[in-house]
Amino acid sequence: MTARTTGAVHVADHGGGVWSIPVPIPDNPLGHTLVHLLDTDRGPVLIDTGWDDPASWDTLTAGLTACGTSVTELHGVLITHHHPDHHGLSARVREASGAWIAMHPADATVVRRTREAEPAHWFDYLTERLAAAGAPEEQLAPLRTARDHTGTFPGARAALPDREITPGALLDLSGRRLRAVWTPGHTPGHVCLHLEERHPAAATGHGRLFSGDHLLPGISPHIGLYGDLDDSTVTDPLGDYLSSLERVAALDPAEVLPAHQYAFTGAPARVRALLHHHEQRLTGLLALLTTPLTPWQLARAMEWNRPWAEIPYASRNIAVSEAEAHLRHLVTRGRAEPVPGTDPVTYRAV
Ligand SMILES: [Zn+2]
Ligand SMILES: [Zn+2]
Repeated sequence: MTARTTGAVHVADHGGGVWSIPVPIPDNPLGHTLVHLLDTDRGPVLIDTGWDDPASWDTLTAGLTACGTSVTELHGVLITHHHPDHHGLSARVREASGAWIAMHPADATVVRRTREAEPAHWFDYLTERLAAAGAPEEQLAPLRTARDHTGTFPGARAALPDREITPGALLDLSGRRLRAVWTPGHTPGHVCLHLEERHPAAATGHGRLFSGDHLLPGISPHIGLYGDLDDSTVTDPLGDYLSSLERVAALDPAEVLPAHQYAFTGAPARVRALLHHHEQRLTGLLALLTTPLTPWQLARAMEWNRPWAEIPYASRNIAVSEAEAHLRHLVTRGRAEPVPGTDPVTYRAV
């Protein structure tokens, strides 16, 4: 891999017509999204676009120049999942280039429902979900205030895709062999993209995997309930995620090109470490659930990267969603159950 710098943008040439551009995410400890660029016979294709912010846009366009192309040359955009650090700039890229945008239908549904939602409905949905999880009034109050004053919410203007990514199929990219691998868990329609071509440095394994947020070298992605506001289907995102991890380990890629942090090798070992981490966490939760707990109480009792009192307000909502996903998985596996007659509902180990 060689690095090239134009202005303040450090793009990486991964060889074989693949580059990465670190597009900053404002005020976020993750730092940046690695937007990948893939050469095809019909023009360059982007994998993800980055956060919708003027500075991020400037970095993306400068990065494309450093890679020897420009935003107007882009032929298409492939989205790993609908989150704003991946799909945020897609509308602007399409406007500047005429490129198509492709996404898995399950995430396209989330985008469409979110765009169509009335802001008040969206805030009410979040408030009700948190209240049902046992969150106290001080956690709900800021949502009620935002409902009545801001009138806008994240994802309200995300781009609707033009094409669907079909799981298991080769993408229609002239001169490249890129296959979509459905990896639900982090979102319902998350996809990894497997470049089924010889590794440019002939590393051992099968091609390269653009892994989005599914498989990262040093962190475990957030797994919460899917949270689709007009869909009451009972799903098990953590169960989906764990199966999706096995799916990418089986591909045994020579190199993983994730959307955050850095490129790495040894995907099967990384998957084993993550599966072990989640198994240990679930065992720890079962020990906590010898006393019946609401999802909120469970989130407070779980181990995070800092004490609960220091977790900011918005991150607590994410923590509760993660606790709910773990409870859902334990219930699905028959390891925990809701306690009849409790409101808000508590759960206990069985
Ligand atoms: Zn994400
Ligand atoms: Zn991300």
